[in-house]
Amino acid sequence: MNNIHDTLIVGSGLSGLAIAHFLEKKRPDMDIILLEKASRAGGAIRTFREQGFQAEWGPHGFLDNIPESRELLRDTGLDQEAQRVPLNNFLRFLCHNGKLIPLPQNPKKILTTPLIPFWGKMRILADLWTKPIMEDQTIGQWAVRRFGKSVHPLVDAAVTGTFSGDLDRMSIDSVMPGLRALEKESGSVLLGLKKKKKSSSLKNGLPSMINFPQGMERLIEILAKGKPIRFGTGVKKIEKKSDIWEVRTDDATFGTRALILALPVNQALKLLSHLDRPPVKKIPVSKIINVVMGFSGTAKVPRGFGYLAPERENRFTLGAMFSSHMFPGRAPEGQMLLEALVGGRRHPERLDLEDDDILRKVYNDLSRLMELPEPPLFSRVLRSTDGIPQLEMDHPALMNWLKKLAQKTEGLYISGFGWDGIGINDMIKSAKKTARIVAEGEYGKSETAAVKGVYF
Ligand SMILES: Cc1cc2nc3c(=O)[nH]c(=O)nc-3n(C[C@H](O)[C@H](O)[C@H](O)COP(=O)(O)OP(=O)(O)OC[C@H]3O[C@@H](n4cnc5c(N)ncnc54)[C@H](O)[C@@H]3O)c2cc1C
Repeated sequence: MNNIHDTLIVGSGLSGLAIAHFLEKKRPDMDIILLEKASRAGGAIRTFREQGFQAEWGPHGFLDNIPESRELLRDTGLDQEAQRVPLNNFLRFLCHNGKLIPLPQNPKKILTTPLIPFWGKMRILADLWTKPIMEDQTIGQWAVRRFGKSVHPLVDAAVTGTFSGDLDRMSIDSVMPGLRALEKESGSVLLGLKKKKKSSSLKNGLPSMINFPQGMERLIEILAKGKPIRFGTGVKKIEKKSDIWEVRTDDATFGTRALILALPVNQALKLLSHLDRPPVKKIPVSKIINVVMGFSGTAKVPRGFGYLAPERENRFTLGAMFSSHMFPGRAPEGQMLLEALVGGRRHPERLDLEDDDILRKVYNDLSRLMELPEPPLFSRVLRSTDGIPQLEMDHPALMNWLKKLAQKTEGLYISGFGWDGIGINDMIKSAKKTARIVAEGEYGKSETAAVKGVYF
């Protein structure tokens, strides 16, 4: 075998590219190669451009509140290009009884919001004396037990906005480990957050949402530049032969001492399951369609980021982003862009509908919520093949299995979409950790879970 490298990364999505970036920074001497199944880098991150409109197939942005992501932006010079939208200045809306109601931007506004009835606001305080349950629960069960059932639609919207998931199936321990640790330590989430706020970055207020003038793909373009990526090279099998990992593709075999799988959970499981049987063959993924709609100036779209609709509202559309309000340059002069999401974990059947049917249903839905006197001037239905991995009740067992596997398989490192989270910030954070472990051999060092803010 001639193809032996110090480090081999499988996958050139954001995870693989960010790992390569942090590794090159720490160990410029290291010989690294990335193998990529597709003909382009970036995986789920892809920007759409047509007739002056710019939208996203995948992520629409990420928050600037994670040190690892800020470091990556600084290293690449992208912090100079980034478009930042402060959450403080932009309203987000919830569809509530068929109307768009602003979400409270800070705890004081929770007291006056019509989204939670008076008795519901009082019930939230019961968190102070509700004893923590040590076992995992669904996010829905956990939120209702701690804060009462009037918060269910708000939490539903938060889970839809991040995972396009179902809060009654997702694991609180997997999605919010930091918050759970606070709850268990302090006996109450509110008390724990109060203590934490005094000592941490949570006191810095709301973060900003980041994208780039050329769209999210700019992040990939810059990260992929000059990286040794072999495109059209899908990995079929991995196997340890003495101290070398053999990595097989359709027409070649590569060898490496450090093998990094930077893949979504289900793609990684295909390569890992012959090393040790996982507790599940695959995890559920949620697919969404992005309906891109361009409107003329007659459209009266509320000023803000967009809205989300909890399931109990029975809407066709999960929510929509008011993209041209958020980021300049998303629509031709005098026009505006909306991006509406359809499908998700609860409604996979909607993904099978014809484009025309979807467009009609979304337009009907949106025009009952805002003034859209004319049908869209421009429309496209973007059907991403990438799904969002769902961290449901089987996830903790899968993570335990992974930890044990990592302990017994030296030289194998796992990072990527759906293991330790699903967001861009999760990927960059995990990439930096993986790069450090590979570069310095600090294997198996555990870290305390961070408390993530819930922004949606
Ligand atoms: C529709 C959608 C919307 C999203 N919205 C947001 C958002 O608004 N904000 C946010 O923070 N995050 C969002 N995300 C999540 C974000 O996109 C992911 O965190 C990130 O892109 C995951 O990167 P990754 O490299 O781990 O995985 P991927 O992007 O899936 O990349 C994996 C790469 O591995 C390659 N590959 C797969 N199998 C093999 C193999 N056997 N051999 C070689 N190569 C292989 C694939 O071709 C791909 O290029 C969204 C995701 C989706 C799908």
